[in-house]
Amino acid sequence: MTGSKPDPRDVSGLLLDIDGVLTVSWRALPGAPEALARVSSSGIPFLLLTNTTELTRADVVERLRNAGFRVRREDVMTAPTLTAAYLRSSHPGARCLVLSAVDLTEDLEGIELVEDEADVVVIGGATEPFGAEVANRAFRMLLDGAALVLMHRSPSWMTDQGMTLDAGVMLAAGLEQATERKAVVCGKPSPECFRASLSLLDLPPERAAMVGDDLRNDVLAAQSVGLTGVLVRTGKFREADLESSPRVPDFVIDSVAVLPELLRPM
Ligand SMILES: [Mg+2]
Repeated sequence: MTGSKPDPRDVSGLLLDIDGVLTVSWRALPGAPEALARVSSSGIPFLLLTNTTELTRADVVERLRNAGFRVRREDVMTAPTLTAAYLRSSHPGARCLVLSAVDLTEDLEGIELVEDEADVVVIGGATEPFGAEVANRAFRMLLDGAALVLMHRSPSWMTDQGMTLDAGVMLAAGLEQATERKAVVCGKPSPECFRASLSLLDLPPERAAMVGDDLRNDVLAAQSVGLTGVLVRTGKFREADLESSPRVPDFVIDSVAVLPELLRPM
């Protein structure tokens, strides 16, 4: 935020959003598999960062492979895997109620999952709203003193049906309002998410870039932590969001297909 543009050639590690950058509805965007392969072969370490809570990490890896990306399990960090890391370090031994549309147990290793009398209420994403019974159970646990943890705070995403609201984020917003408390957020755009990812890459923020299609939650959030921000004009990108934003991305590129050229110009 010094006002000077970072030099993309200084970037030695990458965080890449998946949905809207590499894929839309799990189909590869044009040139994306080739771009990731070029990043990989030029020796730039990367992590693929997704707030998707509809799928386990293993599912994400499988879908990326089916879409033509060569990725390993350890290349992918999901909001649930970041949440599990947060719970293990900040709430060791806690009893956790996890509200999620999908069974994420395999990504919540070491976390005690309960239905009642939880110490922590953990909310994941969902396309369908949670029912009143579940919402009120969570609400009453929070009134009894449970902590509120949100896997991510991306309010919407693009699917092949169009822009879609996240019911988990909506529920969390309601619970925050009703309890007058703020949730701890584990996925993007939480600063902790970027810091935890950088520590996995073993890089300081000024040597890393975040590539995303969400101006606020990917790009500007990462820039606030000191990373270089790269916005792509694919996925949920809207020119109007860019024009009305008081802060600008370090770089805007048409798609991830031209990312290798930005980082290592020939
Ligand atoms: Mg995205």
